[in-house]
Amino acid sequence: MPPEIPADADARRAIRPVICYPTHALPDPDLALYRRARDGARKLDEVIVPPRDAACFRVPQGGFFRITGTDGPQVGDLNLWNAGDLSERFYSGKSRALHGTHLTVGERMWSCFPWMRPMATIIEDTLGWYGIDEFGGSVHDVIGTRCDPYTNALLSGGQYHHCCHSNLTRALADETGMPLAEAEKHVHDVLNVFMCTGFTRDTGQYFMKASPVRPGDYLEFLAEIPLLGALSACPGGDCSTEHSSDSAACYPLVVEVFAPAEGALDAWQPPSPNPYDRSHGRG
Ligand SMILES: [Zn+2]
Repeated sequence: MPPEIPADADARRAIRPVICYPTHALPDPDLALYRRARDGARKLDEVIVPPRDAACFRVPQGGFFRITGTDGPQVGDLNLWNAGDLSERFYSGKSRALHGTHLTVGERMWSCFPWMRPMATIIEDTLGWYGIDEFGGSVHDVIGTRCDPYTNALLSGGQYHHCCHSNLTRALADETGMPLAEAEKHVHDVLNVFMCTGFTRDTGQYFMKASPVRPGDYLEFLAEIPLLGALSACPGGDCSTEHSSDSAACYPLVVEVFAPAEGALDAWQPPSPNPYDRSHGRG
């Protein structure tokens, strides 16, 4: 039996929404300061992420990292951890609740509880022109999870080993020396760099479409805390069709790491852990 429609159904639907988490209370990042520091920065490192694989990189606190598309359209799945304590990691759901479904300049990648502080701030986004398209799609989402072999086994059957989840697991294991099973526990929901996604209006389902990323497009961040990052070049390539097979064309991604000149960030206040006292109402 379908539920009975109440007489005031239209009036209930017509109630205007309110924003769950207005962000005026959050301090704005000083983008002008960050960009001035970036202008005088020197390159520390460059990591090539091979197609259908992942690689790790490290960024000192107050350093910068840039993720660039190379030879063709390619989506990247990004994990971030506090380099000194891997239990502090990126919290995709809370970043979404604060900033919306897709991230761009001035928005943050927030860490999990109990730290809940900015890990990285986006300072440049060459796809910032895209906005929200007629399907409700946009770029760099925090709504997807990461393609993984478990969902693939349920939906398609078979064993596929180059999903972003497995790529990130192998990269973290190689970087830290952890066994695969231990590294896997640290892999978490991602920032989908360059991926174009949204929710269908009729069924509310997660959709993807061909990424608008062109060779040379990049997304650049300031590291608010010392970071260990892992980036997977998704087996979906531009994610226009499918993402758990070897059928899509895939391309490398490049991560470059930069350090600002001495003193360039002297006016900067790095984020402290969250001020909540953690007593949870006891004592
Ligand atoms: Zn993927």
